[in-house]
Amino acid sequence: MENKNELKSLLAVPKDIVITTHRNPDGDAIGSSLGLQHYLEMNGHNVKVAVPSEFPHFLNWMPGSERILIFDMAQEEVKRALEKPDLVFCLDFNSLERIDKMGELITPLKAKKILIDHHLYPEPFADFELHDETASSTSELVYEFILQMGDKHQITQVIAESLFTGILTDTGSFKYSTTPKLFRMVADLLELGVDDVRIQNLVFNSMDEKHLRLIGLVLHERLEVLDEFRTAIITLSKQDYEKFQISRGDTEGLVNFLLQMKNITLAVFIHEQPTITKISLRSKGGFSVQEIARKHFRGGGHKNASGGYSYIGLRPTVKKFKSILPEYQEALLNNDL
Ligand code: 5GP
Ligand code: MN
Repeated sequence: MENKNELKSLLAVPKDIVITTHRNPDGDAIGSSLGLQHYLEMNGHNVKVAVPSEFPHFLNWMPGSERILIFDMAQEEVKRALEKPDLVFCLDFNSLERIDKMGELITPLKAKKILIDHHLYPEPFADFELHDETASSTSELVYEFILQMGDKHQITQVIAESLFTGILTDTGSFKYSTTPKLFRMVADLLELGVDDVRIQNLVFNSMDEKHLRLIGLVLHERLEVLDEFRTAIITLSKQDYEKFQISRGDTEGLVNFLLQMKNITLAVFIHEQPTITKISLRSKGGFSVQEIARKHFRGGGHKNASGGYSYIGLRPTVKKFKSILPEYQEALLNNDL
């Protein structure tokens, strides 16, 4: 961070702080936010975490998660928190559009904004930026941030567990975006008392029977494999959500299953929500999905994990997606897996 000393002096006095993160917050969004909250609170600040929409139930065990303000469910409280904060931390997203209506509340604020993020192409809305697209996760960068503030000694077990959870989920259990630096950091977190097996169980082995059966059903009924493009697609309509009794969060991680097939380079999940059709893209190896998300689906993300949306309904979105595949056919077939 370029002007970190300026931020350090701002944080030397207790402040009113809001931490926010992207819609449909995932393990990294929540883990990095809670880790940062605990750290800032230890230093005497008054800190609220406010997110646009609900987070998955497998994060409910996290200390502090019960205090998170959810805009979709508590608009007034979020508006009050955002009336006059001194500082706003923006975690795990890089454009205010990613936090919907909350973005409109944050834009006019006089508060200094601090971006901590690892997505490609950040928009220049923040006064302070800790941005590194080579980082595995925003949680990794929050650890880096605490180090840059000279406070490594303040990292407690609870902070370490929060950050570990974010790293664990964003790397798909250390399958992607790993570096020697990350493993050294994770070793530090374990030395601070993180029980990695316990957290893996809480996050990944906490599904109920209905949910696991649902994943089986969806993989069986709604999977299409396009061998000529090394692509696999799952689509779910609004009717499917009713028919199969799928609730929000049930489909979290579903798209990643598709990459377990050999020869599949590109995995896609297209699903209809009440107003938009959402698309999730995942890839293996050198093939980047970021461009597809950005150019064709108003989105963005990372090289191997991106997302976007459309307003044209499920069938037209699937059709549009298939129509752009030939453009990428060569890259898909030549991708070294
Ligand atoms: P997911 O497929 O799990 O929703 O998202 C995968 C990645 O793509 C995440 O890093 C997320 O931040 C990014 N992403 C998902 N949806 C959108 C979107 O609508 N806009 C942008 N800019 N990025 C998105
Ligand atoms: Mn992330």
